[in-house]
Amino acid sequence: MSRVYNFSAGPAMLPEEVLKTCAEDMLDYHGTGQSVMEMSHRSKEYDAIIKAAEKDFRDLCNIPDNYKVLFLQGGAWTQFAAIPMNLMKNKVADYIITGQWAKKAWEEAKRYGNAKAVASSEDKTYTYIPDVSDLPIDDDADYVYICQNNTIYGTRYPELPNTKGHTLVADVSSMFLSEPFDINKYGVLYGGVQKNVGPAGMAIVVIREDLITDDVLPGTPTLLKYKTQADKDSLFNTPPCYTIYVCGLVFKWLLNMGGLSAIQKKNEEKAKLLYDFLDSSSLFRGTVEKAYRSLMNVPFVTDSDDLNQKFVAEAKAAGLVNLKGHRSVGGMRASIYNAMPLAGVEKLVTFMEDFEKKNS
Ligand SMILES: *Cc1c(COP(=O)(O)O)cnc(C)c1O
Repeated sequence: MSRVYNFSAGPAMLPEEVLKTCAEDMLDYHGTGQSVMEMSHRSKEYDAIIKAAEKDFRDLCNIPDNYKVLFLQGGAWTQFAAIPMNLMKNKVADYIITGQWAKKAWEEAKRYGNAKAVASSEDKTYTYIPDVSDLPIDDDADYVYICQNNTIYGTRYPELPNTKGHTLVADVSSMFLSEPFDINKYGVLYGGVQKNVGPAGMAIVVIREDLITDDVLPGTPTLLKYKTQADKDSLFNTPPCYTIYVCGLVFKWLLNMGGLSAIQKKNEEKAKLLYDFLDSSSLFRGTVEKAYRSLMNVPFVTDSDDLNQKFVAEAKAAGLVNLKGHRSVGGMRASIYNAMPLAGVEKLVTFMEDFEKKNS
């Protein structure tokens, strides 16, 4: 068996230890004679799995009692609609457009109310984060929306926006659990788990309790109403059972290594290695303004499309896969999420050094 280093933006690598546990548990989970996939979501064994997952997530992220943690189907994109449906009491929301995911969320919200773009970095292909210290936030804005780490463009907010007292809603899909965060600064923090946490098929939504009400937009589907899900602890209907189980193993993996500060150190070390090389290279360069560089998604280019293509193909042959950049940026992108070991980034940098020598 030979595993590759997978730099995909998502679905992405999972920790090898977690995959091994999944394999051990596959045919007979803890003496039950069945896999987690085959279990009733109403069984006592499964109840223990989902309860432990929530508890470990709360411990890992220091989530206080006045926030609910929801495990929901439909990925991140479903939340683009659920958020306005649940939160738009005044039908006004302010969006900061820092990439395609923020823009798609904004476009979805416009179907439900007056969603305004109060800042954007589209003028420079989203290579920076706009100044968010004093935006024209509407007095009656129900919330201010950001995508905190921009998966496609490789930027992240150096600081959270000044929302002028309004609720902050953040999509953290591509930086979920990559570093500590203070949930008290957010009304809603959510992300699809397939980037940095687990297998595809689920979003985790952390939401302050006072935002969970029956006062939702008319026509909101039962399942998209946060109150439906919160009242039943994510077990209103059949949840993504296996995904929750794997995420639970990832939470334990993170707790065992020392939590989010420990993984942050590792992530900073990996990102520094790659960015330092890009800054010193005569062939490759990063595409993002330095102050806004993501720790997770690192886009880079050479000045030649032919060389970019050659690089991606040769890297793949060397066991470094999915380095092709998003079509809107071109070039390459290395996603170096939690589960990417330092050795994978070291191998990538060595490969890039070598490629540079041979091709310049
Ligand atoms: C991938 C991604 C999404 C979309 O996630 P789905 O789970 O496919 O709906 C949304 N936001 C961000 C920041 C992403 O990286």
